[in-house]
Amino acid sequence: MIRRITSWRIPVRRALLAGFLITCVAPLAGLWYWSFSAILQNETDEVRERHLLLAQNIGTALERYHGDLVTTFDAFADRIGSGAEPSYARSLFRKLEFRHVCTFDWETGMFVNGFLDVFEPCPTVLAPEMARYFRAMTEATPEKTAISHVHITDHGEPLVYLVRKAEQRLVVGALRTIYFRRLASRIGFGQRGYAAIVDHTGRVLAHPLAAWEQEARNLSDISPVRKMLAGESGVDQFYSNALNGEMIAGYAAIEGTGWGVMVPQPVAELEAAAGRMVQSGLIVLAVGLGLAIALALYLSARFVRPINNVAAAARLMAAGETGTRVDTTPRAQPFKELAGLADSFNDMAERIQAAQEAEKTLRLNAEQAATAKSQFLAVMSHEIRTPMNGLLGMAALLGTTELDDRQRLFTDKLMESGNGLMRLLNDVLDYSQIDAGKLQVAAVPFDLAEVVTSVADLMRLEAEANRTRIDVDLRRIGDTRLIGDQYRVRQVLLNLVSNAVKFTNDGLIDISVEREISPDLDSLRVKVADTGSGIPEEMRGKIFNDFVQADSSASRPQGGAGLGLAISKRLVEALGGEIGFDTVAGVGTTFWFTLPANRPISEQPPASSEPAKSDQTYAA
Ligand code: ADP
Repeated sequence: MIRRITSWRIPVRRALLAGFLITCVAPLAGLWYWSFSAILQNETDEVRERHLLLAQNIGTALERYHGDLVTTFDAFADRIGSGAEPSYARSLFRKLEFRHVCTFDWETGMFVNGFLDVFEPCPTVLAPEMARYFRAMTEATPEKTAISHVHITDHGEPLVYLVRKAEQRLVVGALRTIYFRRLASRIGFGQRGYAAIVDHTGRVLAHPLAAWEQEARNLSDISPVRKMLAGESGVDQFYSNALNGEMIAGYAAIEGTGWGVMVPQPVAELEAAAGRMVQSGLIVLAVGLGLAIALALYLSARFVRPINNVAAAARLMAAGETGTRVDTTPRAQPFKELAGLADSFNDMAERIQAAQEAEKTLRLNAEQAATAKSQFLAVMSHEIRTPMNGLLGMAALLGTTELDDRQRLFTDKLMESGNGLMRLLNDVLDYSQIDAGKLQVAAVPFDLAEVVTSVADLMRLEAEANRTRIDVDLRRIGDTRLIGDQYRVRQVLLNLVSNAVKFTNDGLIDISVEREISPDLDSLRVKVADTGSGIPEEMRGKIFNDFVQADSSASRPQGGAGLGLAISKRLVEALGGEIGFDTVAGVGTTFWFTLPANRPISEQPPASSEPAKSDQTYAA
């Protein structure tokens, strides 16, 4: 039997789908991931560049503003000595977003003169610490305007002071930070991107958080601010407490001013933008995936259906429906190779069908020939028996007449040979009838004990000639009544006992009957045990075959045609039992056969209406 291992096998459809997904979707996903990371990187680089550029642009504007402030203020201060107030100064200062410009006495700090003091008049005297502070500023750059860090006035306004010493006077310009704020407010990214400007101490000049401007918050603890104060420009990432998140900032130190501009943007915003790209990429991928799966399913279905058709047809063929064919129309077989497979299958089916039909014809012919042969044998042996009976009858009659010793010897030999020939004829007749399927068994009540006793009695004389005793043991069985064909049972038993007699000299033959009861069978077992020669090992497998004898040499003394056991086997099987033997060479042989006991009549094999043949006819 072919062992089928199916547990680890994958259906073609699933394999195709998996293959399709692996070869199409995996690269697609890889491509998506790769392009996503590339785009994200690109975006980040671009953002860095843009921020730096913006910071530098603002820086350039501030540098110009700073230049304008210093040039204007210097020019103004230089004129103070000559006592002439330049006519353009007032409007220039206003444009540059000065609140006021005042001059004080260098020593006392007393107010001397005021310009542009419309919004807030100059103080009449400088507070001593302010005067000291301003003087210290000017000392650092005596010939040039010095610019202070951001101060918050008593009114809460951020101001930057420009200070210059001119002719024993202290020229002080209070600059509002409007320009810084205006410049910074032009920059905005996303929702929280902004520009911040700090002075040379890191204090806020312009910042999107008004409160920080109002308090001139010192940002020098932020890394890009620190770097700007050290005169560096670049891009940096830092954590913003104000915005509660990681920021990426382009920053630029404004040359010659000490000021710095930074353009930060929350990293989260960049990530969100990238996330949106991921999302849209995912949607595209999902749509692609859906389409790919649908296509794969469709293709695999188209591909698998023809294979399934061939497999189903093969199953039908295996079940014996040899007329099965696979549909090979282009609609049913859209693929060239599979159509080829279907064609080959149909060719094969055609051949198998043709071979089976040829084999059937041959078998029928052979069966008919065998039947004809058996019928011929049956007719011939039957026909020969009639004159044989005549011959035997005449020989028997001759034996009753007065004969001298020589004539009696001849008559006895005639009877002996005639009886031998008669037994052979009977065997051949039985065999040929069985072979021609004409064996019929009766189903009538009979007593097995009677059959056993009569067979033993019949054979006892012949056994005694071999100095062998026949014992019958019926003690282990109670009721021996059966329904069946007693003449066939007798024929089998006679054959077994006569074999035992033939192969036993100076021994014992024990015939016994036992009842065997199992859950599904109640049967009687008849045993014929002898102490004879036993059956040689090489013969044991085939003694029930036709025409088999353990010693088939012409010189064997026991005679027989090798048909007795073959006939017995078929008879026992026809009676619904089994036959077998146990043997030990040189020790003896026990043949046995079983018969179903007490079966209801309805379960019996179809009964023969013909009367069974006589004992003589069935003698083995
Ligand atoms: P035959 O009619 O020639 O005896 P059987 O079919 O009855 O043919 O037996 C086949 C062979 O089985 C015999 O030739 C014999 O060699 C062997 N055989 C049968 N019964 C016995 C037995 N009781 N003891 C030994 N050999 C036996």
